[in-house]
Amino acid sequence: MTTESLPSTARSEALFARARAVTPGGVNSPVRAFRSVGGTPRFIREAHGAHLTDADGTRYLDYIGSWGPMILGHDHPAVREAIASALTGGTSFGAPNEREVQLAETVTRITGVDRVRFVNSGTEATMSALRLARGFTGRKYILKFRGNYHGHADGLLVEAGSGLMTNAAGALGQAAPSSAGVPQEYAALTLVSEYNDPAALDTLMAERGHEVAAVIFEPVVGNAGVLIPTPEFLAALHRVREHGVLLIADEVMTGFRLSLKGATGLLGLTPDLTCWGKIIGGGLPVGAYGGRADVMDFVSPQGPVYQAGTLSGNPLAMAAGLATLEILEGDPGLYGRLEAYTGTLADGLRSAAREAGVILSVNHIGSMLTAFHQDAPDGSIRTYADAARSDTAAFAGWFQHMLGRGIYWAPSQFESIFVSGAHTDHDLNATLDAARAAYAGLGGA
Ligand code: PMP
Repeated sequence: MTTESLPSTARSEALFARARAVTPGGVNSPVRAFRSVGGTPRFIREAHGAHLTDADGTRYLDYIGSWGPMILGHDHPAVREAIASALTGGTSFGAPNEREVQLAETVTRITGVDRVRFVNSGTEATMSALRLARGFTGRKYILKFRGNYHGHADGLLVEAGSGLMTNAAGALGQAAPSSAGVPQEYAALTLVSEYNDPAALDTLMAERGHEVAAVIFEPVVGNAGVLIPTPEFLAALHRVREHGVLLIADEVMTGFRLSLKGATGLLGLTPDLTCWGKIIGGGLPVGAYGGRADVMDFVSPQGPVYQAGTLSGNPLAMAAGLATLEILEGDPGLYGRLEAYTGTLADGLRSAAREAGVILSVNHIGSMLTAFHQDAPDGSIRTYADAARSDTAAFAGWFQHMLGRGIYWAPSQFESIFVSGAHTDHDLNATLDAARAAYAGLGGA
């Protein structure tokens, strides 16, 4: 395809110019700005099923799914109807409502936690879970893993993944803020270890475990690209409890995505606290944290750890979440279909790249996948440092080829893509046709 035949982006460009005048960088969340891949961010007019339509009327096959929430595809009729029906009763009450109880009953029943508290974003969920862990244990340090992203609370913007992955990394065990505006004193309360390095975790725990309130982790990482934990690392995570440390699984991305019981259910992990977001709001703003009753009952008004929210338990978000979880529960074959699609996509990408002389290393699990542009055996990319060796310029070139062919991939090498129930075999073939042409366009051979 020549540049002349590419669809116009004039309206997106004009909107981006207007947006830059009134919003920092023209976007309300950094990765949307296409900084690492270049080109004009597409302003999206509408989305249905597996497709997005931008302001210029160009239709794209969507592999972002709003960064995870849209597991059923966009504008799913049952979710739309649930929101519409809730809407007729008003949009926010600042008082309890039945839908909050129903969603809490659903989440506790499916996941096995005793209690859940709803908030408005994944960031709020992890921030609140950490405050709770500190309040419960009376300890002040937390431990996270390099390249894991848990939202943008100050103490978590330390060696963080996702949009921050281009920032410099510090030494293990030390805390380097990933953002300006995070005082070193805050960052110093966050210890950092390498993901998938059980020995490093054991060593740090032996030295500092008695001071640590919680270890927070992505049970499958999506925010350094997809990284899958090894059984040895999972065992080391369980061992942190020997030091009186709470284990917090951040399932904001993986919850209800990798299975009904999330990544922890799939991998046989039993955390003390779990954070959710994305899917449990069915595309509306939501987050949640939950766990054992004795820990959760430390949350106000029951206990001494304060946490609140004007719009928490919002009736529209609860309705969208309930409708989404109801469909997921009622269609047990869905996760298998998503996994099959993603597996075929992974195989297809590998062979398309190979034919063009491009070398890839693909990590995938369930409906999450990252194709790292680097020469490493499949499955061998396990840490932030492994992922960071990828050729981001080659990825950016490939991304632009794909976008020009109507395939909207995640605009960063260090993100997962998300397959939804709305993706069809036809979409899969179209993706692989585009990928073949895009790899050939990279001129690897
Ligand atoms: N935790 C994880 C694992 C995430 O992937 C994200 C967002 N991508 C967050 C927390 C933060 O969620 P939010 O953007 O809703 O604040």
